[in-house]
Amino acid sequence: MKIINASYILTCNDEFEISKDKAICFDEKIIDIDNIEVLNVKYPDAEIINLPKNSVLMPGLINPHVHLEFSANKSSLTYGDFIAWLNSVIVKRDDLLLACTDEIIEEQLKIMQKSGTTSIGAISSFGKDFEACLNSPQRVVFFAEVLGSRPDAVDILFNDFLSRLRAAQDHQSERLIPAISIHSPYSTHPILARNALDIARKYNYVVSTHFMESVAERNWLDKGDGDFNNFFSNFAPNSKPMSNADDYIKLFKGCKTLFTHCVQATPKEIKEIEDEGGSITHCPVSNRLLGTGKLNIRNINNLTIGTDGLSSNISLNLWDELRAVILTHEKQDINSLAKKSLLAVTKNGANALNLNCGEIKKDTLADFIVCELPEDVYCEEDIPLELILHTKTTHSTYIGGRKL
Ligand SMILES: [Zn+2]
Repeated sequence: MKIINASYILTCNDEFEISKDKAICFDEKIIDIDNIEVLNVKYPDAEIINLPKNSVLMPGLINPHVHLEFSANKSSLTYGDFIAWLNSVIVKRDDLLLACTDEIIEEQLKIMQKSGTTSIGAISSFGKDFEACLNSPQRVVFFAEVLGSRPDAVDILFNDFLSRLRAAQDHQSERLIPAISIHSPYSTHPILARNALDIARKYNYVVSTHFMESVAERNWLDKGDGDFNNFFSNFAPNSKPMSNADDYIKLFKGCKTLFTHCVQATPKEIKEIEDEGGSITHCPVSNRLLGTGKLNIRNINNLTIGTDGLSSNISLNLWDELRAVILTHEKQDINSLAKKSLLAVTKNGANALNLNCGEIKKDTLADFIVCELPEDVYCEEDIPLELILHTKTTHSTYIGGRKL
């Protein structure tokens, strides 16, 4: 049992309470939160950890959407237009996958740990990231992904997906949690999606999908038209969309689902997703690089923030992504946006991934980080924004009460 004593605690609860000169007592879970004097009397045998001046203790960050298998990419892909990017992915995919070794993935996982990301949602299309995720100290919600549209290949694709899912099921633990990803409405045959979602409902697995990322996807699903029409005609003439947006959302009924991007989703679609208990994952850097537009986050309640993969980002450090959120939504009040963004990467991320963390609260897992503000803040209300502006790595990171 340990007691850690910080200058400030960001609880990341709905009221966004900031406690000054409080301490927490913890083992694998948070046992108590109070003044250091009170905790010293209540838990006389606990080891005391004193932190430097201007230390801020807060829940560990949660990145619910990352493609580790594309970690070898630096400058191989073309940006600016979604379909142009997709074409470059198709051309470069095999080389990028071959170049992506366990060491490269482990290096990226370490960068995430040092920046304070204690839980991730890893979207795994090929299973290449499995070993690195299995050996990581972070909590990994491992999304085995199903993808493919050819009706004659449905059985082969589904069996391949099942074998990747089984690997995660065989190693299920507090640190590795099996989950299911349906790639997108334009790329995954509804039969594959339905069968995979039946498994998710049976085992209560969290589900992830890309949805309404680009104008091309909007036009294709609504009208069978636009840039995707040209794209698919290269593979098969007279292609038709496999589903419309509404039918696609309905497939996920009864599943706890993270819908990623949603830049081109309508307010009605967002509401339908949230009413069903789903959440929206915002990836502003990816959206900017692929030229897909800007998500209107104003009316989103269950907002989470992800980095996507290095195929459409230059960093898997969530603080970089948080800075991008602040700069992207220039019309919003900057201090409210800072709070909303910190809740998105803590409490909301934990809710979306079904994890018992994301808040500094009794009986939650002791997954927390300590950051240091460079100087005294002008007022406590400035802390969320100043943290986002100045944090690159943490002072210390704890997962399940163990310091990394
Ligand atoms: Zn993605």
